[in-house]
Amino acid sequence: MAQRLIVIGGDAAGMSAASQARRRRDRADLEIVVFERGHFTSYSACGIPYWISGLVSGPEALIARDPETFRTTYAMDVRMRHEVTAIDLDRREVVARDLEGGGEVRERFDDLVYATGAVPMKPPWADTDAGGVFGMQTLDDGAALRDWLDAEPQPRRAVVVGGGYIGVEMAEALIQRGLSVTLVEAGSQPMATVDGDMAELVAEAMRGLGVTIRTDLPVTGLEQRDGRVSAVVTAEGPIPADVVVLGLGVRPNTALAKAAGFPIGPSGGIRVDRRMRVAGLSGVWAAGDCVETLHRVSGMPVHVPLGTHANKQGRAAGINIGGGYATFAGVIGTAVTKVCDLEVGRTGLREEEATLAGFDFVSVIAESTNRAGYYPGARPMTVKLIAERPSGRLLGAQIVGWSEAAKRIDTLAVALWNGMTVDDMTSLDLGYAPPYAPVWDPVLVAARKAVDALAAPDR
Ligand SMILES: Cc1cc2nc3c(=O)[nH]c(=O)nc-3n(C[C@H](O)[C@H](O)[C@H](O)COP(=O)(O)OP(=O)(O)OC[C@H]3O[C@@H](n4cnc5c(N)ncnc54)[C@H](O)[C@@H]3O)c2cc1C
Repeated sequence: MAQRLIVIGGDAAGMSAASQARRRRDRADLEIVVFERGHFTSYSACGIPYWISGLVSGPEALIARDPETFRTTYAMDVRMRHEVTAIDLDRREVVARDLEGGGEVRERFDDLVYATGAVPMKPPWADTDAGGVFGMQTLDDGAALRDWLDAEPQPRRAVVVGGGYIGVEMAEALIQRGLSVTLVEAGSQPMATVDGDMAELVAEAMRGLGVTIRTDLPVTGLEQRDGRVSAVVTAEGPIPADVVVLGLGVRPNTALAKAAGFPIGPSGGIRVDRRMRVAGLSGVWAAGDCVETLHRVSGMPVHVPLGTHANKQGRAAGINIGGGYATFAGVIGTAVTKVCDLEVGRTGLREEEATLAGFDFVSVIAESTNRAGYYPGARPMTVKLIAERPSGRLLGAQIVGWSEAAKRIDTLAVALWNGMTVDDMTSLDLGYAPPYAPVWDPVLVAARKAVDALAAPDR
């Protein structure tokens, strides 16, 4: 008799796991049932800001594989609009509710993949029946915002609450659609994924685009008129808004897992081992935004909800379920984004994170350009490096600059992943030609500066 794999969640992690398992075990050997409560499978939430701005079309273009493809090509039983409401580990069953047809089903499993993603943070003040307030998590959220922006009366004033990368990308999208945009952040800077000095460069570029940035200003409420949002409330008074986008971060979606007795780690994500097995539970796997993972530099468990990890973790789970061997090696915190033409990249630890992890370190900032200074289109590029003292091991890096900045972080990510010192890095054989870099690449300039800082007398 075929074994049975049940997957909860039909996006990056869940469908990567299901696809990899199918590649290794055919239908006669492994029956695969996927429950997805939404309308789409294998979609790119990452593309939503560019769909909102009009740069890419959607939602179809943001879907890598639809349910029918999984059914016909991958021989999977994909049940859309089915929400799993309980997991019974003793009976090895899940209970799912049909959100459209009504009714409930119970399905048995031999293996279970829990891939439910993350839940957007929603403070009590955001619970409103006023129109015009949007979270930004799913393609349905994207579609609802687009409908609101296109409908009459057309919104003119947007407030984005939260200055993380999703808030920053949404602010850019709304500016590009011609709205006046205010970004409100409770902390001291937008883009808290980089240090304050680097974040200031991002804030400056956003102001240059016309985004008003209000920091140290928690939102405490919403005002509405005729059923539509009309302002966000702050200690410094209301900020008028015809549309409000929430980008307040996410937490692991673990409600069902907790109820079923899955172990939860200190970061709030499900505890898994390197092969993505849920710690202590046989035949139960978890992957993606719902799990915690190891930070390879700090050695701490962390929750880093990114598509790049969800795909790799799901793939590892699926290979293992299929009878192969695969591990997820942890993360080093690499991420990139942009604000119009300004690119931002980071890897490893920020200063605050390095301090929290107990490192002694130096940090340097090197100003350079993306191309030879005389070559058309040369623009500034700022590279920040954080290196352990006295070993010189790279602990973290951040880059802010115009074209060719963001993906340069990958050079630094590879150096960091492999434990290189900044001294080693000064000798790296990086490509040079005037259209692509100055003769001393910005990465090398920064590494040399870090070597000098390490050689300076102790503070
Ligand atoms: C606007 C935006 C931009 C982003 N940009 C980037 C980027 O540039 N780079 C990057 O690396 N990452 C980015 N991300 C993050 C990335 O999209 C996520 O990390 C990734 O989608 C996580 O995949 P996942 O499969 O773990 O979870 P999800 O994609 O959230 O999928 C989980 C699925 O489970 C379903 N589900 C949940 N509970 C149940 C249940 N009980 N029963 C049935 N189904 C259920 C949900 O409907 C959902 O479809 C972005 C995210 C957003 C929202």
